[in-house]
Amino acid sequence: KSYQLLLVAFVLLVACNQKDNKPKNTKVDSLISKMTLEEKVGQMTQITLSVFYKKGVLQEEKLKEYIVKNGVGSLLNVDGSVPFSVEEWHELITKIQDYAKESRLQIPVLYGIDAIHGATYTEGATLFPHNIGLAASRNPKLAFEIAEITAKEVRASGIRWNFDPVLGVGKQPLWPRFEETFGEDVLLVSEFGTQVIKGYEKDNLKSNTNVASCMKHFLGYTVPQSGKDRTPAYIPDIVLRETFMPPFKKAVETGSPTIMINSGSINGIPVHINKYLLTDLLKNEWGFKGFVVTDWEDIMYLHKEHKVAKNNKDAVKMAINAGVDMSMVPNKLDFYHDLIELVNEGEVSMDRIDDAVRRILKVKFDLGLFDNPYPEKEAVANFGLASYKETALKTAEQSMTLLKNKSINNKPILPLSKNSKVLIAGPAANSLATLHGSWSYTWQGDREHLYAESTLTIKEAIEIKIGKENVTCVAPNKFQKITTSEIKSVTQKAKNVDCIILCLGEISYAETKGNIDDLELSKDQITLAKAAIATNKPVILVLTEGRPRIVNEFIEGIDGVLMAYRPGSQGANAITNVLFGDYNPSGKLPFSYPKYSGNLLNYDAPVRNIKTYKPQWAFGEGLSYTLFEYDEIELSSKTLKENESLTVKVKVTNTGKVDGDLVIDLFVKDLVASVIPPMKKLRKFNRIHLKARASKIVEFILNKDDLSFINANLERVTEDGEFEILIGDKSAKFIFVKN
Ligand code: BGC
Repeated sequence: KSYQLLLVAFVLLVACNQKDNKPKNTKVDSLISKMTLEEKVGQMTQITLSVFYKKGVLQEEKLKEYIVKNGVGSLLNVDGSVPFSVEEWHELITKIQDYAKESRLQIPVLYGIDAIHGATYTEGATLFPHNIGLAASRNPKLAFEIAEITAKEVRASGIRWNFDPVLGVGKQPLWPRFEETFGEDVLLVSEFGTQVIKGYEKDNLKSNTNVASCMKHFLGYTVPQSGKDRTPAYIPDIVLRETFMPPFKKAVETGSPTIMINSGSINGIPVHINKYLLTDLLKNEWGFKGFVVTDWEDIMYLHKEHKVAKNNKDAVKMAINAGVDMSMVPNKLDFYHDLIELVNEGEVSMDRIDDAVRRILKVKFDLGLFDNPYPEKEAVANFGLASYKETALKTAEQSMTLLKNKSINNKPILPLSKNSKVLIAGPAANSLATLHGSWSYTWQGDREHLYAESTLTIKEAIEIKIGKENVTCVAPNKFQKITTSEIKSVTQKAKNVDCIILCLGEISYAETKGNIDDLELSKDQITLAKAAIATNKPVILVLTEGRPRIVNEFIEGIDGVLMAYRPGSQGANAITNVLFGDYNPSGKLPFSYPKYSGNLLNYDAPVRNIKTYKPQWAFGEGLSYTLFEYDEIELSSKTLKENESLTVKVKVTNTGKVDGDLVIDLFVKDLVASVIPPMKKLRKFNRIHLKARASKIVEFILNKDDLSFINANLERVTEDGEFEILIGDKSAKFIFVKN
């Protein structure tokens, strides 16, 4: 009998233990068990700081009421006008956390910010190139370094949550946030995106050098059909799985703890109510344990704009039941009141609320906010180090992409001699905003007076490089409405110079403000370019733009083209170093630069497009001041089997006269597949340095995953058959067989 009793006890013990083995966070769960419904919903509510400012003055009572009475769990952004200094941030965050301490359960507030390409909302922080340029470097280590510095400067400001990285694939260049993407290739987006997350978090959210990342904007935000921000996208499932899901899936595996939702819709369904994407796929299939936050006012828009909800309350119900955990409300408390009612009415279950709150509190615990929610004084030492500027310069330099370098009398026009006399012309010649783009101390990044005095425009950097006396400048301050007298002045001043450096591109813009109807460069800039060409002096075109703007109408007459993207605070120095030969350019385009507004094919479009893919410059183009030559590609075998790998070796020689970096893109062509294969697909990339005359053998390892694609049944497969590897001007074929 006693033996039987023992057995029962043993079985019970095992059963209890099994229950305990469920993923469970005791601190979080014990806190949740003490919370009222109101307190729980407060944690799910995120309010913008500007709500608490009136004419630039903080309304402390209102802020206190929201935190203490309503238990608002998260705040975001700045008051909208200027960046705060580190001290001002400290004062604000301290106040906020003091209020949180006055609330019944003393749950700290999680503050979130858009520190895109640097700690953009802290005065004096270093700003780096936007992602679109970074991707041209093909050097994801730089993304890690930038993220590391950004995290330090953000955390030094007392903030622990960053709404970055952007993991959308930039396949629609009209879209005004194109500059925030890593370009049109899914591998680039995945590799760079992962490094950003690693740089922010370094697997330790508690450390006072790190911040929590936020993967965004899930899913399909980058390809609105109209090209306009936050308008509907229509994306077949096969494409969603092939192109748009992988960067997010990889980022989830990397451990990013938060995710922000696309404000738009896919195939008629706003993503904010897409239960399949938010719950079934993201949380259940991919195992995402963090929390889901909406984008700006997006629950309200379900009713107001998308018209899928009868009213705001209905919208709240749909979003929360679909899997949203936190609402970036962010202006009013209507979300908070509606959600409380919905739970009381049984329209949203307490389980769903507990799940959301559990996810949010876990991140707060992981960030160490319960140990110490205040700005960490020691972290301030990590702010504003001189070395950050070096990183900003290095990253801008590695992103510079030389697209044309015509030889005049058998000598390439670039680099220019430092003894040259130059005319710098164009609206980007003397503008800081065009170098920085969006999210630069303000959201639109367009307020030049906010940039540090040490930040240079292209004109200023060139003056330093070759002497003021050798530089004349015609810098209209608008990208449109360039006056006839400014254009005449170009013709006039060109007479006394050796060449013209023509600086064209785009103003700074963010989101809907950057909506355009076509990609044409502004008419006035085209007129200016034609006037420059008509002088018969050599013309070098420098482009500072967040997306490709059409230059076809005048490009024939241009002798050199340098694509600078949005190179950030050291951008002008990087441009100047390339123009005058102190840096040998190596960037390669991370997108197809279209020739016509009506032909926006991507490089990996189905092969049936091969005759119509005629961009101005193709994905992967980019020149150097030296010459690299490839030997034939060597494969370890002519056949690759299911569980084996294939070693691809290629010897590269720098046959030119100067040292240089080389970006090597390895493309694979699937010669026959059950779904029309892409023209080619980037499967590996690398960046090496080669001294003049030196050679190096570069090695890549391929396996079956590197040949895979999504088939008609929406499964990722690798099919038997022949493949071709393309590196530079060389190619090699092999066969894949399962057995
Ligand atoms: C943007 C997000 C951003 C959020 C908070 C939205 O308008 O779409 O990318 O994180 O604002 O500033």
